[in-house]
Amino acid sequence: MGTSAQIGVTGLAVMGRNLARNFARNGYSVAVHNRTASKTRELVEEFGHEGDFVAAESVADFVAALERPRRLVIMVKAGDPTDAVIEEFAPLLEDGDVIIDGGNAHFADTRRRERDLRERGIHFVGTGISGGEEGALHGPSIMPGGSDESYASLGPMLEKISAKAADDAPCVTHVGPDGSGHFVKMVHNGIEYADMQLIAEAYQLLRDVAGYSPAQIAEVFRTWNTGRLESYLIEITAEVLSHVDAATGEPFVDVVADQAEQKGTGRWTVQLALELGVPVSGIAEAVFARSLSGHTALREASRGLAGPTARPLSGTDADAFADQVEQALYASKIVSYTQGFHEIAAGSAEYDWNIDLGAIASIWRGGCIIRAAFLDRIRAAYDARPDLPSLLSDETFAAEIADAQHDWRSVLGAATSQGVPTPGFAAALSYYDSLRATRLPAALTQGQRDYFGAHTYRRTDREGSFHTLWAGDR
Ligand code: NAP
Repeated sequence: MGTSAQIGVTGLAVMGRNLARNFARNGYSVAVHNRTASKTRELVEEFGHEGDFVAAESVADFVAALERPRRLVIMVKAGDPTDAVIEEFAPLLEDGDVIIDGGNAHFADTRRRERDLRERGIHFVGTGISGGEEGALHGPSIMPGGSDESYASLGPMLEKISAKAADDAPCVTHVGPDGSGHFVKMVHNGIEYADMQLIAEAYQLLRDVAGYSPAQIAEVFRTWNTGRLESYLIEITAEVLSHVDAATGEPFVDVVADQAEQKGTGRWTVQLALELGVPVSGIAEAVFARSLSGHTALREASRGLAGPTARPLSGTDADAFADQVEQALYASKIVSYTQGFHEIAAGSAEYDWNIDLGAIASIWRGGCIIRAAFLDRIRAAYDARPDLPSLLSDETFAAEIADAQHDWRSVLGAATSQGVPTPGFAAALSYYDSLRATRLPAALTQGQRDYFGAHTYRRTDREGSFHTLWAGDR
């Protein structure tokens, strides 16, 4: 076998197969390999005409087919299979070769793998790839970590196959060393959970309080998609809501079981935020909302609990309410991104990654699930002030929330009085009000801690650490 392929892809399920085709369609010669060799043959039979594929049946053939330094993308099931595949390939590789893991790995695993392989002279690039199977084929948003040297060898190829934003900028950047790429992909998914939850709450409010049908709500989302909320998730929401179930003729959304599933990246985002001490309450509520929806027995047992039933509005009142929901959704969305970017900044500081937050906003503008016009403005905010303490400190976002907050509060008032659950909207508003408060009840919490545990407290008027001799101490 000749040494001709510029890149190799092993693991040819939906993602690997489409990524290999994307490389080939962009003019790269691609070695392809899969544990079950029939999938390799199928890929070349079906799509061989799209470009220059080199089918490799064995691991040794695959490695031999790659030009040096070798660039080898692993797209297998995340977790143990990734370690197994690395161990199969690493002994056959040489100094300076690059292994790229495009699976959804936990960034701590990526840090471990990068360290181990670095000691063996091999570059390891853990990369987030967002956009699902369509993105993998037509251009995903790509978040690679790893060494500068590996990016020098790989970057131009990734830039070519990535999505392009509206200004034609490639949706890929070298995020930083070791696990930073997978960390950023994890937070991307956390923000995705929050975006989806907020959209779901907006839908429920339009249904229960405005009294709109799914088809009417689809139209509302279509209109919103022409404004500042323009995004892939708003666009597909309109599609899902206008879909009618063929079997029953009912709106599709009414025949789907209301139990949301999850694969784990949202949960990782929240777990990490707890470890880093970053308040990502909106993202956490989105993860918990999915979890709660799946507790069918608990929900069944709770159905008789007392509470109001929503009384739908009508006519212009309903339309005015829908406009308020747009404001609440937009304000809550700003808070979700504020929290997500805070977590990235905290991870960057903790692990010394030096992540450029503006560049992250930029590469999320195309290809990925949370792609949105809005990200252009986040990029502009960080470009103007890279040390921005929080997105809410950006004058434009602060002004928009100032405009939205009256309606945001009204919507939450209506939701509360009519018994419509809105954990995402409520968490976002509480975060906002907590940040702007001059005094928080944390002072009382400190008093309680000092009372029962002599944990001490700091004072507003003097330096130092204090303990009060409480009645219980005597
Ligand atoms: P997948 O279902 O996660 O994995 C199937 C692939 O892994 C097959 O090629 C399979 O080979 C291979 N594999 C499993 N165990 C193996 C082992 N021990 N040794 C060698 N190969 C093994 O595939 P996917 O959905 O295409 O996803 C690939 C990766 O991309 C995953 O890490 C996933 O989390 C990530 N990802 C997926 C999406 C998505 O939308 N699906 C989006 C972003 C990222 P066989 O054919 O021989 O079984």
